[in-house]
Amino acid sequence: MQHELEMAMQLIEPIIQFHTELKQIRRDIHAHPELRFEEKRTADLVAQKLTEWGIPILRGMGVTGVVGIIRKGSSQRAIGLRADMDALPMQEINTFAHASRHPGKMHACGHDGHTAMLLGAAHYLAQRGEFDGTVYVIFQPAEEGGGGARRMMDDGLFTQCPMEAVFGMHNWPGQAVGTFGVTPGPMMASSNEFEVVIKGKGSHAAQPHRSVDPIMTAMQIAQGWQTIVARNMNPIAAGVLSVTQIHAGSATNVIPDEATLIGTVRTFTTEVLDLIEHRMREIAMHTAAAFGAEVEFRFKRNYPPLVNHAKETAFAVEVMRSVVGEQNVDANVEPTMGAEDFAFMLQEKPGCYVFLGNGEGSHRESGHGLGPCNLHNPSYDFNDELLPIGATYWVRLAESYLRT
Ligand SMILES: [Zn+2]
Ligand SMILES: [Zn+2]
Repeated sequence: MQHELEMAMQLIEPIIQFHTELKQIRRDIHAHPELRFEEKRTADLVAQKLTEWGIPILRGMGVTGVVGIIRKGSSQRAIGLRADMDALPMQEINTFAHASRHPGKMHACGHDGHTAMLLGAAHYLAQRGEFDGTVYVIFQPAEEGGGGARRMMDDGLFTQCPMEAVFGMHNWPGQAVGTFGVTPGPMMASSNEFEVVIKGKGSHAAQPHRSVDPIMTAMQIAQGWQTIVARNMNPIAAGVLSVTQIHAGSATNVIPDEATLIGTVRTFTTEVLDLIEHRMREIAMHTAAAFGAEVEFRFKRNYPPLVNHAKETAFAVEVMRSVVGEQNVDANVEPTMGAEDFAFMLQEKPGCYVFLGNGEGSHRESGHGLGPCNLHNPSYDFNDELLPIGATYWVRLAESYLRT
């Protein structure tokens, strides 16, 4: 299988030659993870490499964001390629040489690899790329919950760097190395959080008739919410409503004054999200009223659904096929309820986000943790075999786009 894959791949030779350096860059970033909006060392490294390769840069958008501007010829056309740079606030349990040197911080989502792959593409495009126009290589901060993509846009990314389309990529554990997955339309979910406080009236637990029990009310509300997915949503649509925390009380013999329900909602469309939020509020308010309690309803929309544009996705699929072979591209991959802030960019520009298989974890060096090689797992490590594959995809994508 591995052999067949290598036969099918059309990787760019100078990028293969550059693999060792890319691997060293990736591992250096992995060893020095930085959290959202604190990617100072990482941004410095990216800026230094781009500058060393003769690529003009813009800095400071989204606090630590870096954009490289690779221009050739005279065309006004332009494309954006985007990677993320931030790590997660979690403890790595791998002990190999490039494991995190910063306690409580870890590149457990592979953004170290995303940064290195895009650097590899930038290096090649600047030196040998064949295109007419501009390639913006975008290194964004704070994908993990900070909305760094949004912050770069607010700081003028698309006005200072006018581009026709923007593309993104994420490594995908469990999917075979050298295979791509993508689908037009919704591919990742909107992520939203809620905190609902039910205000009742406490009493001695042996005198329940003197209380307005917020716990009973919270339980009824949480049960009622589950009927939204089961009875209000079109069964063909998808949505998740998970209550993940219930907080109330401090003693076995006291009915408390308050109970709090906390959780997350995920949807693939804004319409379904509107419906769920609206019904959650109604059920909470009316159920509380029925029991004589009051409600504070807080609902926060974080990332919107990630929706791939049909034309750019079809284009990206052709490029992926040319790089890894037709049989290694799943153009109809199953969407995931995970969320991703590249969704903000796709709300303003046409484009496409793809998954690149990271394998099952057999690539990990000895000293890795005993857990699975999954995203956000303390035993995870990005697969360095992906570096030339991802970089080749970026290069071919930009070259074909600025040739058409
Ligand atoms: Zn992540
Ligand atoms: Zn990620």
